[in-house]
Amino acid sequence: MKGKPKLALVYDPRYNSDLSVLGIKVPFALDRGQRVLDELAAKNGTPVRYCRPKPLTKSDLLFVHTEQYLKSLKLPATWQAIFGLAKAPEMNDATRKAIRKLLSEIRLKSGGTLHAARAALKCGLAANLGAGYHHAFADHGEGYCSINDIAIAIRKLRAEGLCRKVMIVDVDLHQGNGNAAIFRDDPDVFTFDIHSQEAYPQKKEKSSLDVSITNEERHLYQERLEAGLIQALASFTPDLVFFVQGSDPYLKDTAVGFYLLRLTLEQLKKRDRFVIDTCLNRDIPVALVFAGGYGPDVWRVHYNAVQHMVDVQK
Ligand SMILES: [Zn+2]
Repeated sequence: MKGKPKLALVYDPRYNSDLSVLGIKVPFALDRGQRVLDELAAKNGTPVRYCRPKPLTKSDLLFVHTEQYLKSLKLPATWQAIFGLAKAPEMNDATRKAIRKLLSEIRLKSGGTLHAARAALKCGLAANLGAGYHHAFADHGEGYCSINDIAIAIRKLRAEGLCRKVMIVDVDLHQGNGNAAIFRDDPDVFTFDIHSQEAYPQKKEKSSLDVSITNEERHLYQERLEAGLIQALASFTPDLVFFVQGSDPYLKDTAVGFYLLRLTLEQLKKRDRFVIDTCLNRDIPVALVFAGGYGPDVWRVHYNAVQHMVDVQK
C-alpha cells in the first residue's frame, strides 16, 4: 500500500442476531456494529456506506478447521461447550433450526473478516463491524468462538497469493489462544498479544510475542503495548495487520468475571490509535475486527477506533 489509505466498512444487519434461543445468556453487544454506524452518521452528517459480506463456504472453513469438528457443530453439546452452557439444549427441530441459523450468521460475520482483509490489502484500511473469534482452534471451539474467521482469512488470502506475511495484533482482554495455537509453527504469521494475565484462558498458548498484564500492572498498559508492538514490527515486516480490537478491557464492560484491567475510554482510544497509526506510518494495511466486548457501552470503544480510521483517510 502506498499513498493515503481509503477505508472500507463491512457489515450486515444480520450481525445483530438473537442468541437467547439456545439458552445463551452472555450479554453480547451484538448491536454494536449498528451503533457504530449510527454514531458515525450522526457525527459525520451523512449515512455511512458499508459493504455486505458473503458467508464463508464449507471449503473456506476447511482452510483451518478439521472435518470432524465441523461435523460436530451440528450437535447441541458442541455449542454447550463453546458457550459454557450449564446443560446442552435438547435436540429437537427448534434446536436444529436455531443451530443452523446461528452457524449461518457466524459464517456471514466471518465472511466479513475475509472481505475486510481483501479491502485492506487493496485500499489500506478496513473494519469488519463484528467477528474476531480468536479462541477457536482447528479442532474445537471455546470462549464463545466457533469459527476462527481471522485464521481462515489469512490462510485463504495466502493461498490466493494476495499476501505472505501477516501479523495479528490482538488487544482483547483475553489471549487469542486459538490463533496462537493455529499459527505456532508458521514463520509467516506473527501473533502479538497483549492481554490480562488473570483472565481466561487459564492455560495460555504461546504467541510469537505475549505481553501479559497483571491487574496490578494496568497503569503500565499503554507503555507495554507500545514497546511490544514496536518490538514486534522490528522483527517482522507484515504485508497485512489484523487488528483484533477487543473492547472488553473497558471499565464499563459488563460480562461477569471480566472485571480486569478496567481501562477508561480515553485509554482505549489511545491504545487503538497507536496500533492504527503505527501500522499506517509503516505503510502496512490494517484490517480491524471487533472481538470481545459485552454490555450496552462497549460500542463506544469500537466507535472511537473506526472514527479514527475515518479521520486518517481524509
Ligand atoms: Zn475477550
